[in-house]
Amino acid sequence: MLEIINIQKSFSDVAVLKGIDLKINKGDVISILGPSGSGKTTLLRCINFLNIADAGKMYFDKDAYDMHAVHKKEIAQIRKKTAFVFQNYNLFRNKIALQNVIEGLIIARKIPKKEAIVIGKQALDKVGLSNRYDYYPHQLSGGQQQRVGIARAIASNPEVIFFDEPTSALDPELIGEVLAVMKQLASEGMTMVVVTHELNFARNVSNKVIFMENGKIVEEGTPKTFFTSPKVARTKQFLTALHAH
Ligand code: ADP
Ligand code: MG
Repeated sequence: MLEIINIQKSFSDVAVLKGIDLKINKGDVISILGPSGSGKTTLLRCINFLNIADAGKMYFDKDAYDMHAVHKKEIAQIRKKTAFVFQNYNLFRNKIALQNVIEGLIIARKIPKKEAIVIGKQALDKVGLSNRYDYYPHQLSGGQQQRVGIARAIASNPEVIFFDEPTSALDPELIGEVLAVMKQLASEGMTMVVVTHELNFARNVSNKVIFMENGKIVEEGTPKTFFTSPKVARTKQFLTALHAH
């Protein structure tokens, strides 16, 4: 469905992505693990053209793109098929939950407001917020705000959703409700790429796990082989350190 080949990105001479390949098949749930600063966020941002890569090829469905020389029109075309869930929710503070969910549908997709409201309510229902349509972000818990973020992603009916550490800004007791929504989405066949430190999610929900460090993929595999018999010593060391936390 979506393939990225040899993506590279530097920030003022510092190489952050040093040639990463990523293949996403329909229905995949891919977890990306890695220490802070390894380039995980930059990778997701480049795939969504929130940053422009220095090099890289993208194949999305039947279309090919040069990730460095991509045109605005092509970015718009790609963004119609993707959605992004941010670590810090990225909600409009002055808009209620429903407005947050439908804003993009109305502005970017030109969907009539009436229709957008129906879609937006369905998306909020799906993440368990049917009684919070008209709440402002400050009236919602972090877990609820992130579920609004996920509802916004769902509402655009994407082919793939990218999650950048969706639970790492949350108090521990609120993480579960967000992971539950993500698990539900996965079980319904949504294609997802999730940067996370939640090892149980990576192990039990994803079908592929990638370990990144220093702008490179160190190891990737099925959760079973990745967690029970990692091939690379560094992977084992990282997993042990995470467990010790
Ligand atoms: P991760 O998400 O794995 O923690 P990031 O992709 O956020 O890693 O960052 C990787 C490296 O790139 C870090 O050293 C970070 O400081 C640097 N970096 C990220 N974004 C920028 C930017 N906009 N300008 C300069 N350096 C950046
Ligand atoms: Mg990050």
